[in-house]
Amino acid sequence: MTTTLTKGKALAELAKELQLDFFLVSYTDLLGGTRAKLVPAAKITAVENDGACFAPFASNLGLGPDAHDIAAVPDPSSLIVLPWQPNVGWLASDVYLDGEPFAASPRVIFKKVSQQCENLGYSYKTGVEAEFFLLKKSEQGYQIADTQDTAARPCYDQLNLMRQFELISTLVGYMEELGWEPYQCDHEDANGQFEINWTYTDALTTCDRHVFFKYMVKTLAEQRGLTATFMPKPFSQLTGNGAHIHMSLWNDGQNIFADASEEMGLSGIAYEFLAGVLSHGRGLAALCSPTINSYRRIGATTTASGSTWSPRYISYGGNNRTHMIRIPEGGRFECRLVDGAANLYLALAGILAAGMEGMAKHLVIGKRLDENMFVRGLEFSDLQILPTSLLEALQCLEKDSLLMQTLGEQAAKTFLDFKYQEWNSYNAQVTTWEVEQYVNC
Ligand code: ADP
Ligand code: MG
Ligand code: MG
Ligand code: MG
Ligand code: MG
Repeated sequence: MTTTLTKGKALAELAKELQLDFFLVSYTDLLGGTRAKLVPAAKITAVENDGACFAPFASNLGLGPDAHDIAAVPDPSSLIVLPWQPNVGWLASDVYLDGEPFAASPRVIFKKVSQQCENLGYSYKTGVEAEFFLLKKSEQGYQIADTQDTAARPCYDQLNLMRQFELISTLVGYMEELGWEPYQCDHEDANGQFEINWTYTDALTTCDRHVFFKYMVKTLAEQRGLTATFMPKPFSQLTGNGAHIHMSLWNDGQNIFADASEEMGLSGIAYEFLAGVLSHGRGLAALCSPTINSYRRIGATTTASGSTWSPRYISYGGNNRTHMIRIPEGGRFECRLVDGAANLYLALAGILAAGMEGMAKHLVIGKRLDENMFVRGLEFSDLQILPTSLLEALQCLEKDSLLMQTLGEQAAKTFLDFKYQEWNSYNAQVTTWEVEQYVNC
């Protein structure tokens, strides 16, 4: 649904026009989970004005079980009619507490940073590549759904891709209906792994669409008896799920990251922004690769295909997929640190804040590296290495005052509390690997 269609119209009016019986009033919690209430269209006006109430403690937003309700206030311009259930309209919401935007709401946090960018006269545009696996659950656990998809190097495989034609073409049809302009689909580097690309737009819309895309893919897969997963590394020997972010800054319809006269087609401002992102790379890892499992993707040495396609160093290159930052063409660059578990509102808030700091300080970027970073291994390097565990990433985040400030005290505390708990609960597990490794010590 485009903003122009919804602009200025009350949700009740839109419900009549679009024949909606329900609204799914949804928001994203600090861990990236989607929370929602289903509101009959006849009762949407009160929710549009005052929000739908939730207990913050129960929905991964912090505060105690004794805290006041939070209210999810839907953003009418985010309306998406469920293509598979067209009497329901999905709405992204901003969370409020006691009548004020709630400081630990990821969408509120992103909007604040985005507003700072707008105040500089720029609009931040992003595209996301949300890779996913199609799995089937059995008594043995989760397996690749397509039992014929077994090649060691299955990337771009035509047969494997076309075996999923029904699901993928349905998704593309829906995305076309929604005006997302999907443009390519492929089988990715791991068995059972796919990517569907759609066109970049303003970063807030991309965040909302990313949330909706994950919901849509999971729902359609489930309807077909499958499980779609965006988890960063479902199988140790296979390439993981990235959610690469491509970005540019715009002013008056002009891409100010573009400079056709420069070798890579990037402007001075783009390089300052890029330098800012690199300078916060270690802290950003906690927001872009936010789970225990993320660090099986980051820093893995190899996979069955021969390449991990994920960064391990803080470095940038040209059209070279072995770096944290890649410049695929003029006018934009790609951050490959972001994975399928990232809460995009938080990841992009961090990236944008880091980029704006780079611009404000006129940071001078180091030399572009044209080498294959995957052959470097883990040997001593002149470059900083990305964190190799969630624990290390959280420690880096805590030391990064810009990112801590961007999250704000309340969100930072809640995020870190949740994530240290996650680390501690993982760290208390004795794994099969350990027993095999140490049983005879
Ligand atoms: P690759 O696999 O080469 O990394 P994809 O085609 O899968 O690239 O994804 C590229 C993403 O970048 C898409 O979402 C695309 O719309 C987006 N993109 C292209 N140009 C820009 C730009 N100027 N600013 C932001 N995103 C862009
Ligand atoms: Mg109740
Ligand atoms: Mg891609
Ligand atoms: Mg990909
Ligand atoms: Mg990419």
